[in-house]
Amino acid sequence: MSSPAPAILIYAAGKIITMNPSRPQATHVAVRDGRILGVGTLADLAGWGPHTLDERFAAQVLMPGLVEGHSHLMAGTLWRYTYCGCFELRDPDGRLWPGAATLDAVVAALREAEAATSGQATPVVGWGFDPIYFGSQRCTRADLDRVSTQRAVGVLHASGHILNVNTAALELAGLLRTEIAHPGIPLGADGLPTGELKGPDAMGPLFGQLGLTRSFLSGDEAGIRAFGQLAVRAGVTTATDLAATLGDDELSTLLRLTAEPGYPVRLVPLLRLIGITPKEAVARAVQLRERNTEQLRLGRIKVVADGSIQGFSARLRWPGYYNGAPNGLWYTAPETIRECYTLALQHGVQVHTHTNGDEATELALDCLQAALRQHPSPDHRFTLQHCQLADAAQFHRMRALGIGVNLFANHHFYWGDQHRATTVGPERAERMNACRTARDTGVPWAIHSDAPITPLGPLFTAWCAVNRLTASGRVLGADECVSVADALQAITLGAARSLHLDGEIGSIECGKRADFCVLDDDPESITPERLKDVRIWGTVQGGRVFQA
Ligand SMILES: [Zn+2]
Repeated sequence: MSSPAPAILIYAAGKIITMNPSRPQATHVAVRDGRILGVGTLADLAGWGPHTLDERFAAQVLMPGLVEGHSHLMAGTLWRYTYCGCFELRDPDGRLWPGAATLDAVVAALREAEAATSGQATPVVGWGFDPIYFGSQRCTRADLDRVSTQRAVGVLHASGHILNVNTAALELAGLLRTEIAHPGIPLGADGLPTGELKGPDAMGPLFGQLGLTRSFLSGDEAGIRAFGQLAVRAGVTTATDLAATLGDDELSTLLRLTAEPGYPVRLVPLLRLIGITPKEAVARAVQLRERNTEQLRLGRIKVVADGSIQGFSARLRWPGYYNGAPNGLWYTAPETIRECYTLALQHGVQVHTHTNGDEATELALDCLQAALRQHPSPDHRFTLQHCQLADAAQFHRMRALGIGVNLFANHHFYWGDQHRATTVGPERAERMNACRTARDTGVPWAIHSDAPITPLGPLFTAWCAVNRLTASGRVLGADECVSVADALQAITLGAARSLHLDGEIGSIECGKRADFCVLDDDPESITPERLKDVRIWGTVQGGRVFQA
């Protein structure tokens, strides 16, 4: 007995950009069982046998489903709180929220949220806060006391590395006292905390008070669904959650939701090395690998070496910050990173490491070099995330050690002006997120949004890498600009490669998953300055069609 052959669907498109150099363009793609049977002309594909011709995309452009190699599921979860960012932003339902350009506007938005839930004891939470745009004005607990003196109020910075809270929140967390000596908890003239908390260690107790635990942020059902909506709007068919706790509860939620026929994105959560030992993390990653499904890819680890440059918590090499700010923080002890790398290589577990400052990058390279001597591991696919300040010499080391890089191209637009003026100065700002150097030194590279730090949208990220424009309109580091073709490669195959998934996704070719980004405009013929304006219709993921 043989079962009937599964149906073949052939999509006709205005144009198909395949990212496969041997057949870069096509007009038709055949799909069977959620996978690509072939791509070419209708005549090429007819040989596969009886099929149905679907012409709904006949006037549109298909390209490989976009891959976001550095995002967080909390990009979906955070929308239930008050958006406090400087730039306008679209929510999962497509509604555009205005930016708050002053501290007073942020306080007003939070007061509105407080009033809407007045009488409740629940915390008032904001996110996307970016006081670097307010000049030298710092936010203190007194500012947030204007929102409420009774309820806990907390505002998470856009970088994700700093939290501002009011007096009531400090009191609830037992931190409204003198004689606190912690590098992440600055004190005011009265000896009490100012309400600013820097780094996971200092923010941790307050996250608990505000309900912002990482297991909640990345394991919440409504948030995971909202993230799926954001992905479809951005043309994304595979996305990472780059700092997941992956406890049994979060894991079962993820397994259940991603198995739903209507869930539109393949998720790749990386287990974060925070609050667990390297030994526990590697053992858990090995265990998680066994739970892999088509739509949920497990078994990788994320290490966070330092903080953020605009929050002055990144670790910089000499001569440090341009404005003289003291050097940043090690989020993970150097010896812990070395131990993690060694164990991970031993067990074939892939590690991605957040390094913002160049001292953190240097440390990660030193640790990997030592670990590789103990456990030589061809094709380990270790990847540096952000790696914003690496110089050419570090890229050559990366190439020699076989480590890839996922650069934070969106930073040029959102913080480039500040990097030039304040954090690292004009010279180093021009070489930040050095896509061209990565390409020219042969380091495998991708680019990312780090959503919700900046908005999920790989075509916008590609525009950033191509044009390197800051918010004020300055081209920052023209020598590091890349071509549209290179940028499109970075948001498809480049990101897929960083996840070791390039055998399955990242291009439209025979045998790969039927993951497409459906566009109303052609990114290859639009002028490079308008790449971010390409209209996204939706996606096809595993052969299922999702309209934004
Ligand atoms: Zn991140």
